[in-house]
Amino acid sequence: MGRKFQVSNERDRIYQGGLLDIPHLGLLTVSSMKEYKKRFVETWGADPAGIVIPVSQADGLLFDIDGIRYPHSRVLSQLRQANIGAGNFNAVIRMVSGEFREVYLSIDPRLPFALSEAVQVEDSRGIGSPRVCFGNTKIQYLLGAILGTAVDLATQGLDPSKTRLAGVVLDVVNIWGMGAEQGRIHLTCFCANCKAFFKMDPSFDLMALFQDFPNPWNLVLQESENGISYIDDIAPDMSARRIVGLSRTKGFASIFKDADDVKLQNLAQFLLRYIELRHNQTVFACNAIFKEALQDLDAQNIKKIIIMEGEEYGWTSGLQLRRLDDIGIQKSFLNVDEIWFNPTSSINSLVHKNYRYYMCRRSRYLVDALFERIDDSADARIMAITALGNLAGDKLRKMMKIMIAKTLGAMMSGKDHLRMLPSPEENPRNVGFISPGISDVIVEKYI
Ligand SMILES: [Zn+2]
Repeated sequence: MGRKFQVSNERDRIYQGGLLDIPHLGLLTVSSMKEYKKRFVETWGADPAGIVIPVSQADGLLFDIDGIRYPHSRVLSQLRQANIGAGNFNAVIRMVSGEFREVYLSIDPRLPFALSEAVQVEDSRGIGSPRVCFGNTKIQYLLGAILGTAVDLATQGLDPSKTRLAGVVLDVVNIWGMGAEQGRIHLTCFCANCKAFFKMDPSFDLMALFQDFPNPWNLVLQESENGISYIDDIAPDMSARRIVGLSRTKGFASIFKDADDVKLQNLAQFLLRYIELRHNQTVFACNAIFKEALQDLDAQNIKKIIIMEGEEYGWTSGLQLRRLDDIGIQKSFLNVDEIWFNPTSSINSLVHKNYRYYMCRRSRYLVDALFERIDDSADARIMAITALGNLAGDKLRKMMKIMIAKTLGAMMSGKDHLRMLPSPEENPRNVGFISPGISDVIVEKYI
C-alpha cells in the first residue's frame, strides 16, 4: 500500500451543478442527446444537472414571433433537413424534456440575420458591420421578444414533473466587436444610439476624443499580427497613473512619442470614463432585455444569467466583472442571478453574485467565433458583403481547421481542472460549471 497524499482524497469527489452547453443547434443533428450525456459523464464524473440551448441561430429565427418577419430568415433550415424529428424549436424542447432536470435558454444577441442599417453596429469611423447594436432600444425589445417567446414555448413544451425551465442566458462575450488597421483601433459601437448615450455625460465629447489619433484607447490597445493586443486587467478602482504605468510597461505608450505623464494621465482619465460609461450602457441593456423577456413571470423563478469573459474589463463585452459584483453600486446595478465566466484569468471567484465556471479559455468567445465562421461561410449574403467571400475554398477550410484546433485546445475538460479552482465549499457563490458540448468528432461532422 503506497502512501496517501492530500490530492487522493479528491479523487472521488463529485462536482455538482454541471451544465451541458449546446452552443449551436446544428450540433444536435450530428450526435444524439444520449451521446452528449454519456460524454459529459465520462468527462466530469457526474450527470449534467441541466442543458443550455440556443433560441436563435445566425441564419434566422427558430420560431414565429408576433410582430416580426424577416424575409431573409431561413428559419432553422439545417435542422429541418436533419434527422432529429420535426426540426423546430418545439421539437428540441420535446427532445430535452425528461432527459435533463433543468433547461436554460441562451441567446447570442448579435442577430446577424436582422440586417438593417438602422440597427447595425458602427465603428468610430462610421463603418458598419452585419451585427446589431446591443445598445439600441429597438434591438433590446426584439431580443426580449425572441427570448420571451422561447420562454413561453419551453414552458408549454416541458414536462414540469421532470424538467423545469431554470434560466435565460445572455451571451455578451462579443457584443462590442473591434478591429485595427495601421495602428488605428476601431471599436464598436458608435451608432447614433450609442453616441446619444455617451452624450448624457456633458463633460465628455467622446467622438472628438476618440476620432483623434493616437487617442486614449491606444494607451491600452495595440494592433498586432493576429488582431489586437490589449490590456484587460483594468479594475474598477484603477487610477489613471496606474494605466499609464501599465501602458509604458507593455510598450503601448510609445505611440504617443514623447508625451509626458501628465498628458497621458489626462488621456487615461478619459479612457476610464469611457469604460465606465460603456459598462453602464451594457448593464442597462441587459436589464432591459431581461425585463422585457420575463415580464409577468416573476412567480416562475426563472434565473437571469449572463456569459462573459473572466477579465477585469472585457473589451468586447463592455463589462468590468468586479464592478458587476459590487452590490454597493445602485445606479448601474446588473439585475442577474448568475454570472458565467472562464476561470483562467485574474478573477476566479466572486463575492456577492452567484457564478459558474465556463470551462473554456476566453469563456464562450472562441466557441462563438467558430460557429460564427461556420455559419457565415454558409451564408451567401454574408460572403458577399465581407472579406470572407474573397477567400478561396481551400483557404477557408484551412482557416476553419485552425479555428477548430484553437477552440478545442482552449477547452478545459475533466475534473482536474475543477479541482484546481475554489470549490463550492470554499466559496458558496460557486454554484457549478458549464461544459461546452463540442469535440473534434462532433465539430468535424458538423462542418
Ligand atoms: Zn450602437
